[in-house]
Amino acid sequence: MNLPFAESYKIKMVEPIRKSQRKEREQWIKEAKYNLFNLKSEYVFIDLLTDSGTGAMSDKQWSELMLGDESYAGASSYYKMKNAIKKILGFEYFLPTHQGRAAENVLFSVLVKEGDIVPGNSHFDTTKGHIEFRKAKAVDCTIDEAFDTTLIHPFKGNIDLNKLEDVLKKYPAEKIPFIIVTITCNSSGGQPVSMQNLKEVSALAKKYNKLVVVDSARFAENAYFIKKREKAYKNKTIKEIVLEMFSYTDIMTMSSKKDAIVNMGGFIGMRDHDLFNKASVFNIMFEGFITYGGMSGRDMNALAQGLDEGTEFDYLETRVEQVAYLGKKCLEYGIPVLEPAGGHAIFVDAKRFLPQLPKEQFVAQTLGVELYIEGGVRGVEIGALLADRDPITRENRFPELELLRLAIPRRVYTNNHMDYIAASLANVYERRNDIKKGLKILVEAPIMRHFTIEMDRI
Ligand SMILES: *Cc1c(COP(=O)(O)O)cnc(C)c1O
Repeated sequence: MNLPFAESYKIKMVEPIRKSQRKEREQWIKEAKYNLFNLKSEYVFIDLLTDSGTGAMSDKQWSELMLGDESYAGASSYYKMKNAIKKILGFEYFLPTHQGRAAENVLFSVLVKEGDIVPGNSHFDTTKGHIEFRKAKAVDCTIDEAFDTTLIHPFKGNIDLNKLEDVLKKYPAEKIPFIIVTITCNSSGGQPVSMQNLKEVSALAKKYNKLVVVDSARFAENAYFIKKREKAYKNKTIKEIVLEMFSYTDIMTMSSKKDAIVNMGGFIGMRDHDLFNKASVFNIMFEGFITYGGMSGRDMNALAQGLDEGTEFDYLETRVEQVAYLGKKCLEYGIPVLEPAGGHAIFVDAKRFLPQLPKEQFVAQTLGVELYIEGGVRGVEIGALLADRDPITRENRFPELELLRLAIPRRVYTNNHMDYIAASLANVYERRNDIKKGLKILVEAPIMRHFTIEMDRI
């Protein structure tokens, strides 16, 4: 008999979580103005809002905290992080930042100016936010297959090279500071980018003399998919694949809260000393001195250890296959989810789940509220709220996909929790025809509104 799949760790410390009553949840979500970000975490039983900074550190990572060097300049913790980045990712220079968006802020302060165009694959919301904040424009060049949620394609994060070349041809060279590749592609469903595609994007970038920036939050999950799905890499280690992936790129921005399995932290990896010098100025201004950049020494230690653990096959197999397990359960109940499963999350296709609701009633957000009421499970909307308004016309943007993302924290929940989540969703699915109305906006911020939005039932 084939041995069943089992987690590659055992549990040393536990954190109790509390179930609540449906009546309580109805009241709490109303008080939260139907914004899942406004809920107290103690009101949530299983929290799938994000996999960002919510992972469980290992015993080795906790040990590293004790060894942190909190010197302002030149701390040993800085060098630990520097060595890990050089060895595992291959970048000569780096700047620590307090999280991923801070890395974007520092880097884009050097590279992006008003009127610029930044092509890429479904830019992440903070990335797009930092581009648009500088009055530049993000152009999505993801392959068309990514937008068909039922289509099975091994690398739905890939960049369409024709779309990319069209952009590179269309605009004057000085308007395009770089190409950005997000691995895995969060906004299109945690979908990976193939090594082949990275290679081809790199070749095209060279032809047009452009830098390639990787938004690398989930680079290790991307490497796992390459190993599993791209024949030539079947027998390579994750660490070999990771080094090759980054070899096709010039700069990386990292949210360490994802694949480095720490609760807070980020960095920029660079090869060019001149860029490092320019970025250092902004790092000092926004983040802190270049050898800590908004991070504690102990956190840099845990991050260095996390980069090593996060690029081990056994860990990644546990991680990615748990997400796939949840996806499979959902499909067994007939629930429309994006296929194939992403590396860090299952995305429920809200338009297919609740076809009776018009898009103006924020379908995925409505589904998120219903799932919370049903089981105390908190997901997050990846749809019209997140897409925000057009910065020029101020019209609501309605993206092709209305998704409810169920992001799985790393090493936190067991497969029993996955069963509970799927059953909660199945119960909502069973009563889907009774959900006749969605939500309307009461109050919203001018940019990245989804975090603080206030809504009401229609
Ligand atoms: C999380 C994330 C970011 C931003 O990182 P923070 O640490 O949340 O600031 C950027 N890009 C991608 C793809 C991400 O997933």
